[in-house]
Amino acid sequence: MDTRQVSQSKESDNKNLLNYNIDELACLIEALGEKRFRAKQIFGWLSKGINSLDEMRNIPKALRQSMADEGLYIGLPFAESIQTSKDGTVKCLFRFLLADKDPDTGTEVESVFMKYEYGNSICISSQAGCRMGCKFCASTMDGLERSLTGGEMLGEVLAMRNLTGEEINHVVIMGMGEPFDNYEEVARFIRLIHDPAGYDLSLRNITVSTCGIIEGIERFAEEFPQVNLAISLHAPNQELREKTMPVARKYRFDELINAARAYTEKTGRRITFEYAVIDGVNDSKECARELASKLKGWLAHVNLIPLNEVDGREYKKAQHSNVKRFKEVLEKEGVAVTIRRTLGNDIDAACGQLRRRG
Ligand code: SF4
Repeated sequence: MDTRQVSQSKESDNKNLLNYNIDELACLIEALGEKRFRAKQIFGWLSKGINSLDEMRNIPKALRQSMADEGLYIGLPFAESIQTSKDGTVKCLFRFLLADKDPDTGTEVESVFMKYEYGNSICISSQAGCRMGCKFCASTMDGLERSLTGGEMLGEVLAMRNLTGEEINHVVIMGMGEPFDNYEEVARFIRLIHDPAGYDLSLRNITVSTCGIIEGIERFAEEFPQVNLAISLHAPNQELREKTMPVARKYRFDELINAARAYTEKTGRRITFEYAVIDGVNDSKECARELASKLKGWLAHVNLIPLNEVDGREYKKAQHSNVKRFKEVLEKEGVAVTIRRTLGNDIDAACGQLRRRG
């Protein structure tokens, strides 16, 4: 695991209005000599995805000016590069500028907009880079640059909505980064986007995907039982998991499965296991049988993902016939399973590749 120091600009975070909840905004506004009720109005404006304080039309000019004088700003990222697929998928490399708005600095992350029958969804990043070191992933190849704040994650959703002109009613935190390596800010994001005075997104329309940080899973079950949880498993046992996911050395396979099972018992909710099917590594019939033996009989669901091949990584996508066979074995054993529909086939699908090329 890359343990490089994570650089965060705390000063910039405090100036980005998107990071504030209503109570915090009320304190801020009170300190500027204004009435607290303005906080709810400002929060509502921010959730619309406005770019400038001047767009807050029912907020007195004097207050807008005082906020600007304090260096407060709306930290929406701008689109550094955009790829659009024939099926409507939009992949965007967003750049967050700091308070000084210097275009040569800032942090880049990827977000992907996808259209499904049930609605529009966005996959957002929770960190720029990642320190988990999964062997098949591009996001981790340069380590972790820094974690995003909750307001920046909200900024990804708002900026994507502005960009596409489409409503977004599902959010998946499955882009760059490990959400539970940045638990507090991911929790802040969920509370911000769920707030009825703002974006008002249902908790059931949010999914968090972890590579298996057990204390995060336990805490999440307590604090967000209505939010969907997915675990990137990618192997049926400890030995194989350790080969592709260094995190498995700390959070061992059996302990992870026990934590997942405890989660389903506590919340009464199904848990999804993501399984990227890799050619000749984890796609055999034996692997499928072993996985089924660990997951059958409880609220587990397996999502088989055709691997996104990454430049500079040795792993290849499993053949479709093997993915199908894998699915059949799980089904026969009574384990719920789906093969993830591949969207954005004609654009750079693997998460983290766009940023590396940037
Ligand atoms: S798969 Fe997720 S947890 Fe693993 S290195 Fe990539 S971004 Fe990090």
